[in-house]
Amino acid sequence: MTINQVMVIGAGQMGAGIAQVFAQSGLKVKLNDMSQDALDQGLAGIEKRLGRAVEKGRMTAEQQQEAVQRLSGTTDLKDASDCDLVIEAVIEKMDVKVSVFQQLDEITPAHAILATNTSSLPITEIAAATERPSQVIGMHFMNPVPVMKLVEVIRALQTSDETYQAIEDMTKKLEKTPVEVEDFPGFVSNRILMPMINEAIYTVHEGVASAEDVDAVMKLGMNHPMGPLTLADFIGLDTCLYIMEVLHDGFGDSKYRPCPLLRKYVKAGWLGKKSGRGFYIYD
Ligand code: NAD
Repeated sequence: MTINQVMVIGAGQMGAGIAQVFAQSGLKVKLNDMSQDALDQGLAGIEKRLGRAVEKGRMTAEQQQEAVQRLSGTTDLKDASDCDLVIEAVIEKMDVKVSVFQQLDEITPAHAILATNTSSLPITEIAAATERPSQVIGMHFMNPVPVMKLVEVIRALQTSDETYQAIEDMTKKLEKTPVEVEDFPGFVSNRILMPMINEAIYTVHEGVASAEDVDAVMKLGMNHPMGPLTLADFIGLDTCLYIMEVLHDGFGDSKYRPCPLLRKYVKAGWLGKKSGRGFYIYD
């Protein structure tokens, strides 16, 4: 199938990055948010990043202008009526995502593919809430989207081969690397990353080593670019806890139980970099 017109829903951290890479890859993209402020911020962020790319010589001023021209903003979901592909990147709440998908099911043309950037919610359940479950799929971009090469392409139980193929091809067009994943809790990325972070928190909780020393072991000994506790602070400790709960509930296996210290930090409002304090203190 041919994908010409795309819409990205949610102009936050992820949605704005996703819209940017589509525009840079030559596709017409509408960025949608229910909040005009969030939309304005998202669009301004894209223009700023593209401007910086020109300054650094990674793109020409002409390429920047063309990318900006392919991009438009809207707060009206009905503008998805001519879209071939819609990628949802709104907040991580099942009821909100289901409501967006049900509206899109009404608004978009019958051939349109509806993708979600969820990092943890069951895509099979989102697909089941629509009248076109075979055209629903996960497209899990990594943060920051313009930089990170991976997209986990997640098949819901109902996703057709045709839908999968169209999204795999599109991911390559964005100059990203698609990895095919089945719809199970945490997919691949968070199923492996989050238990490692949780175990790092247990080592601090049990007094095996300090946060600094746990991070030093993983950076210097395993060549990780960033220690797991620094990474947890960047992701947000509330998000880490939420994903551990998804794994724990989804598999019903005690090996995924969230560390009590992680729960305590979240209860204290120590959410990492965004709140000024997590395993480290930020100015
Ligand atoms: P964010 O809070 O930065 O942005 C969410 C945006 O969605 C906000 O601007 C909000 O106004 C908008 N929104 C909420 N409900 C809406 C609706 N009904 N219609 C239109 N817009 C709506 O969140 P984010 O970090 O960009 O995450 C978005 C999604 O991407 C989540 O599902 C998250 O799990 C997933 N994700 C996040 C990361 C990450 O590192 N932040 C990585 C991969 C995937």
